[in-house]
Amino acid sequence: MPIVVETIASLRSHLRRARSDAARFGVTRPKVSLVPTMGALHDGHLALVERAVDRGEIVVVSVFVNPLQFGDAGDLERYPRTLEADLEKLAPFDVAIVFAPGASEMYPKGAVQTSVSAGDVGDLYEGRTRRGHFDGVLTVVAKLLNLVQPETIVFGDKDAQQVFLVKRMVADLNIDVAVATVPTVRDDDGLALSSRNRFLDARERHAARALSRSLEAAESAADRGPDAVRAAAQAVLTGDDTVRLDYLEIVVPSTFLPVSNDATGRAIVIVAALVGDTRLIDNTAVYLG
Ligand code: AMP
Repeated sequence: MPIVVETIASLRSHLRRARSDAARFGVTRPKVSLVPTMGALHDGHLALVERAVDRGEIVVVSVFVNPLQFGDAGDLERYPRTLEADLEKLAPFDVAIVFAPGASEMYPKGAVQTSVSAGDVGDLYEGRTRRGHFDGVLTVVAKLLNLVQPETIVFGDKDAQQVFLVKRMVADLNIDVAVATVPTVRDDDGLALSSRNRFLDARERHAARALSRSLEAAESAADRGPDAVRAAAQAVLTGDDTVRLDYLEIVVPSTFLPVSNDATGRAIVIVAALVGDTRLIDNTAVYLG
């Protein structure tokens, strides 16, 4: 079972001990992998943990519902907190430390005065409806990187914009860490696993399949170009009035900006929609013809 720590001081002392124990057992430079999460763990998170175990001898999982990345106080309050169940799910994996701080441990003075800006792309897509969301994400990721100093940090492709912005922060700020990513884990019917899926009632859960189906339609239309991709995906998303589309965009992987109309080659289709009151996102890579 992992050691559960709630304070920065005990995180640091347990990490020191884990590093020196590993060294004693013959690993001269034990590698640390970090998996940041907000808890309410599902198989998607566990795929990240598996990757972390592959990448390092010492695995740290953080479970922190970061107030800085929530615009809406109600959304923050409603966010599921299930630490006991999370620890049970982590038990089969070789996780050394679970870092589960409270907000006052991470932000002892309340709102931070020094933060990371996610720049231009931070205000697009997820950032347009959730102002400041990515500044909050990058600030907490930077704090976690400073606290844990891992060789590898692991993220899910499910949050493609987040992966893009974290990689850019790591490059822009010369942070010495490898960013590993894991493909999106889905339910049998294609719906991407998300901690928010538990908020869907039966009708909404059924309707939520529209997101992954719209991406499948996008993939099928990719060889006919961006307009065809948009039309195909949109046709699926407008079929059910339980689903309210927020954005559907095709972006260039290297800039995360919208593709031009004559773009060809690899692109990412990103989608967000409200299903009932629950906001869901998904994405897929396509090859535009
Ligand atoms: P969260 O707890 O929602 O902040 O997610 C923590 C990490 O798990 C992020 O890197 C997410 O991209 C990743 N993640 C969430 N859902 C999935 C999924 N269905 N498949 C793979 N990774 C996921």
